[in-house]
Amino acid sequence: MPTQALVVADMINDFLDPAGALTLGEAGRAIIPFVADRIRKMRAQGAVIVFLNDAHDSEDLEFRRFPPHGVKGTWGAQIIPELPVAPTDEVVGKTHFSGLLKTGLAEILQRENIAEVHLVGVCTSICIMETARDLDLNGYRVVVYRDGVADLNQEDHEWGLERMARLFGVKVV
Ligand SMILES: [Zn+2]
Repeated sequence: MPTQALVVADMINDFLDPAGALTLGEAGRAIIPFVADRIRKMRAQGAVIVFLNDAHDSEDLEFRRFPPHGVKGTWGAQIIPELPVAPTDEVVGKTHFSGLLKTGLAEILQRENIAEVHLVGVCTSICIMETARDLDLNGYRVVVYRDGVADLNQEDHEWGLERMARLFGVKVV
């Protein structure tokens, strides 16, 4: 049994709450029970749980392309209250799409001797795909849950899943 980690990407108010700055709407709300269940199950199995959240500066360059969201220290950047966060979980901030770019995630995965990373959260074709790509490049096995990820639209969601499986060897389950 490989040592596993579950990375929960961007399940924050700005993406998941109806009042969030860049809300996914119903598609986002729909994955919350699945994600909460995955967290509980994998934690019970001894997996490392990592919450990977946007933690932008208010002037982040990403805001040239997206409305401001996930600004460090704001309500929008907080993990939604529906998810069970334990004191032993890791919470990692990121400022780019990939969870491995200029974050503490790589160090956590190395320290915990992780071989396989499971991904849930948003958005399928953006942060999930970029993170899956970088994990693949670094030799990790990657599993993405079809019912545990969502995107700003259904077309990008499907395209993202298909591309991750085809190009990055991601196991889509
Ligand atoms: Zn962002």
